[in-house]
Amino acid sequence: MSEAADPAAALADVRRNIARACAAVKRDPAAVTLIAVSKTFGAEAIEPVIAAGQRVFGENRVQETRAKWPPIRAAHPDVSLHLIGPLQSNKAREAVQLFDAIHSVDRPSLCEALKKEIGKQGRAPTLFVEINTGAEAQKAGVLPQDADDFLKACRETYGLTISGLMCIPPLDDAPAPHFALTAKIAARNGLKLLSMGMSADYETAIEFGATHVRVGSAIFGGRH
Ligand SMILES: *Cc1c(COP(=O)(O)O)cnc(C)c1O
Repeated sequence: MSEAADPAAALADVRRNIARACAAVKRDPAAVTLIAVSKTFGAEAIEPVIAAGQRVFGENRVQETRAKWPPIRAAHPDVSLHLIGPLQSNKAREAVQLFDAIHSVDRPSLCEALKKEIGKQGRAPTLFVEINTGAEAQKAGVLPQDADDFLKACRETYGLTISGLMCIPPLDDAPAPHFALTAKIAARNGLKLLSMGMSADYETAIEFGATHVRVGSAIFGGRH
């Protein structure tokens, strides 16, 4: 894959596909937030996508976001930023400063750090708990069988408001069962938001109830 020749056209295609996927399962397209994943891309690639009307962006690193986004955001104060990659507890302060949503809450030490920073800064990003649906050793996230207890601890021990769940299916698995499992855990815990689906599978994710799809390469082109 090469960089998208025309990110505005690519964005329009993705939006059309989202609308079609919603129509197929009788969902309101307004209930699906498209997160344009701009990791590795600079302002020159991001600006045309903002100009085309996109306002929600995803990044996977605190450091890259801090280096890249402050000037872009100053010029476009209505842009919101979502952290979709793993978060170290010692970066919780910056993450709470920089992001409007954090999709990777997955352990008690991070809950503790987030609770502290949210209290201090009086700023509360929307929080998602990441579920490691494929139980992959190298992947972040809470194991499915530990999810209910972890969500209870988020609420009762740390006083955090968790709004939804996030998952990243294993690369070589069919994604549908992972989306279904994530949706099931969310439903039984009364969580409304589901962050699932990337460039290759966001239409399937919408079928399974995704409220947030994280789409990078289909908009920006391939990453180097
Ligand atoms: C990079 C990334 C994406 C976007 O992936 P594409 O395949 O380029 O759409 C989505 N979610 C997470 C967690 C990512 O790190």
